[in-house]
Amino acid sequence: MGTPRDSTQAQAEEVVDRLEDEYPDSTISLRYSNRLELLIAVILSAQCTDERVNQETEHLFEKYDGAEDYANADQDELAEDLNSITYYNSKAEYIRDSCGTILEEHDGEVPDTMDELTELSGVGRKTANVVLQHGHDIVEGIVVDTHVQRLSRRLGLTEEEYPERIEADLMEIVPEDRWQEFTHLCIDHGRAVCTAQNPDCGDCVLADVCPSEKGDGEVDLASGDPW
Ligand code: SF4
Repeated sequence: MGTPRDSTQAQAEEVVDRLEDEYPDSTISLRYSNRLELLIAVILSAQCTDERVNQETEHLFEKYDGAEDYANADQDELAEDLNSITYYNSKAEYIRDSCGTILEEHDGEVPDTMDELTELSGVGRKTANVVLQHGHDIVEGIVVDTHVQRLSRRLGLTEEEYPERIEADLMEIVPEDRWQEFTHLCIDHGRAVCTAQNPDCGDCVLADVCPSEKGDGEVDLASGDPW
């Protein structure tokens, strides 16, 4: 078990500093070339890997061009075009509905406020935060995905379980100018080292400050269970 810094603010800054050195090119891994493609890719990425989404959107973005194409698409055909993605039927419906709203209420443009984005079908706060950050350069919160959720708890940055509460805690302690990179650093570290089932604490740059570090058979603070 490592020893965390004295305050959660100091712990958060230490974590960001170290991960930044480790992953200097950390950024979003979804591929897109405009805001609508970004929105669609993020909707598709729920409960699915970015890698799989990128494979599927490669042909999807060639076939459909703009909100009108998606809004007018046949539900079954669009779902079939997404069939390697988890929950593809529901996601096809979200995309059609969202694009319909974008056409009717936003002149075909992806909106740029949290309220308008979260009114779109299938778009929660996490998706909206990603679209605001990467589509509009507006950083209004911290994207909390499964990696951010797990690492924040393991590292003692929060004891909350639900993403929106975790986000609120993190927004208190992570410096605002690092909110966006915090997410990508956690994702990179969560994929490379601090994996869900078998984190490689022996090869982790955060081991000496991590209260979940496995050294002495301690507890995984993400789950609350002993390792
Ligand atoms: S890999 Fe281990 S030491 Fe590193 S952050 Fe995850 S639980 Fe902590």
